[in-house]
Amino acid sequence: MNKEERIELADLLFPNLENSIAEIEKKYPERNLPEDAMVTRYGPSPTGNVHLGNLLSAFCDMVYARESHGVFFLRIEDTDQKRMIEGGIDNITSVLKDFDIIPTEGYSYGGEYGPYKQSERTEIYQAYIKELIIKDLAYPCFMSAEEIESIRLEQEKEKTKIGIYGIYATDRDLSLKEIKEKINAGKEYVIRLKSPGNANNIITFVDEIKGKMKFPEHNMDTILLKKDGTPTYHLAHVIDDHLMHTTHVIRGDEWVSSIPLHLQLFEVLGFKPVKYAHIAPITIKDKETGNTRKISKRKDPFFGVKYYEENGIPIEALHLYLATITNTNFEEWYLANPDKTIADFTFTFEKQAVGGTSFDEEKLNNLCKTYFSRKKGEEIYEETLAWAQKHDTDYARILEENKEDMIRFLNIEKDGPRPRKDISKYSEVKEEFYYAIDEYFEEENYRNTSFDKEYDLDLIEDYLNSISLDLTNEEWFSQTKDFAEKNGYAKTPKEYKKDPDSYKGHVGDICEAVRVILTGRLKSPDLYSIMKILGKERIFKRLDMYKKVVAK
Ligand code: GLU
Repeated sequence: MNKEERIELADLLFPNLENSIAEIEKKYPERNLPEDAMVTRYGPSPTGNVHLGNLLSAFCDMVYARESHGVFFLRIEDTDQKRMIEGGIDNITSVLKDFDIIPTEGYSYGGEYGPYKQSERTEIYQAYIKELIIKDLAYPCFMSAEEIESIRLEQEKEKTKIGIYGIYATDRDLSLKEIKEKINAGKEYVIRLKSPGNANNIITFVDEIKGKMKFPEHNMDTILLKKDGTPTYHLAHVIDDHLMHTTHVIRGDEWVSSIPLHLQLFEVLGFKPVKYAHIAPITIKDKETGNTRKISKRKDPFFGVKYYEENGIPIEALHLYLATITNTNFEEWYLANPDKTIADFTFTFEKQAVGGTSFDEEKLNNLCKTYFSRKKGEEIYEETLAWAQKHDTDYARILEENKEDMIRFLNIEKDGPRPRKDISKYSEVKEEFYYAIDEYFEEENYRNTSFDKEYDLDLIEDYLNSISLDLTNEEWFSQTKDFAEKNGYAKTPKEYKKDPDSYKGHVGDICEAVRVILTGRLKSPDLYSIMKILGKERIFKRLDMYKKVVAK
């Protein structure tokens, strides 16, 4: 076909396009941003619910754009209409909102570079395809599924690369007359790239995360437009990221093998290529096989994002975890900087893991504990209440009825250099602080405590009567020691150990008895703080309850 024929073909295939390429390009001017600003995008396909891997890539998009004073936009990649799920788009927008990963622009956020939904951009893709046809870089292909299948079988037999390329690309050089005949006969067609590549050539490419990579040049006549005139992911990605001025495509590394195709598309379309940063997958050691595998929807409960909400994992703590996956030096930095937040950290692609990062529940838990330890009681109270209002309404009522006390309990041991680290989830507040709530604190609680020790309850009663609740912690402890000594107990465990026969026990035994009576446990936050919040009346109520239980 000569150029005139190709123009005729292009007009025949796309007779009614509203805008020329020049007009389209005008609508997407360069962005007015600082020189090193990154323009990133999250491009989910609404073909399934958002999962942890998606959140990770959206999180990366967000932090890199934010720290470079760039733009992070959301683009809905709904080119595969057959695989769309109902509510898929709403799921994307609501999960981003719920998990506080907020694009600066894009679908449902607005902006000058839209539409941000690929199904609304069909004409744009077609305009570029029309141009490729004129340039002899794309062509209509009428091969049927059966023909393609038989080529595949032949290629398998001959152990050559599977696909439509070279001698297998039989429709590459159809004449205009042949094409017209087929179209008139009602034959369906796709538009394929007329790949100028040669697989014997090796191309070198530098990924922002993975570094230098080498590939054979792309030589497949890949489908660019499907039978229904809509684009494939490959074409849509390249055109959109060109027009929307994306600087960095951060995406899962399942796309690494498409790099040669995407680079070729940038080239044939005459666009400046984006920079790619391929993120390693989140992996896990399979419990059954012991092998490391990608996390999976079917096998791993933490794969879906609902898990985090339902279990009461704070969003900010999940961000901390995503940050540790994003940059290997984040966690150490965060632990060393108690007064800093994620926004103060500088993420770099160099510190991004190249291989898979394994999902580490313990690490997530520890980060959650650190998160709670840095929060004031008031904040923990409000956040837990909001969570309970959705997931445990009875507890929400209890929290509301006991607001002041609860905040005081949650504030115990918060001020020192090493704040308490006991809670890792909102759902654990109830369990950790059940003794704060009279309604929960029943005889039953004592049955879970080990009662192999018998306490001198008369002595404990004397102690509780004698001790004032208006002391400082130091005064309280010194008075408790004096009380111990007066009653035949050693003032310190050390003294007791030196000469156990001379004592009934040591001061720790008295505190232990009080702790068990007041909290039903052998371990708790600072005991005197608990005594002060409970007050004498509740203290003696609990002592009576305890007496009843041991008397039985
Ligand atoms: N729509 C693609 C996906 O969901 C996005 C890949 C990309 O970010 O380019 O996998």
